[in-house]
Amino acid sequence: MDKIAIVTTSWDDGHPCDFRLADELAQRNLPATFYVPLTGEGNKSVLPGEALRTFRKLGFEIGAHTVSHRILRGLEQKELSREVRDSKRMLEELLGSEVHMFYRLRSAVGFRGCADNADARSHAQLRPV
Ligand SMILES: [Zn+2]
Repeated sequence: MDKIAIVTTSWDDGHPCDFRLADELAQRNLPATFYVPLTGEGNKSVLPGEALRTFRKLGFEIGAHTVSHRILRGLEQKELSREVRDSKRMLEELLGSEVHMFYRLRSAVGFRGCADNADARSHAQLRPV
């Protein structure tokens, strides 16, 4: 019996390099989920909604990744709700469609650069919203 290999990738934080990455993945017909916080380090904006909608049109999934890229452990209920529930709602408003996936932050690491995906390595668990 032939074995079937199923491959997917996930990318975090809405880095500007994701434009190039999405293009490379699409050319290779590789599936991916982009987990995007609404704001990044220092409250800087991440990829604009238009880019995320384009990624969706290319067939990629977009997942929530908190509102402000905060570690959830130790947050008060109100802050936790904002980071989890509001990130889903706000992302859905940006995309104009439902968001099914969520990645939480597990440790304090910097945002990834084009050649360093240290942040993505820190997100080992996939949890549906
Ligand atoms: Zn992250």
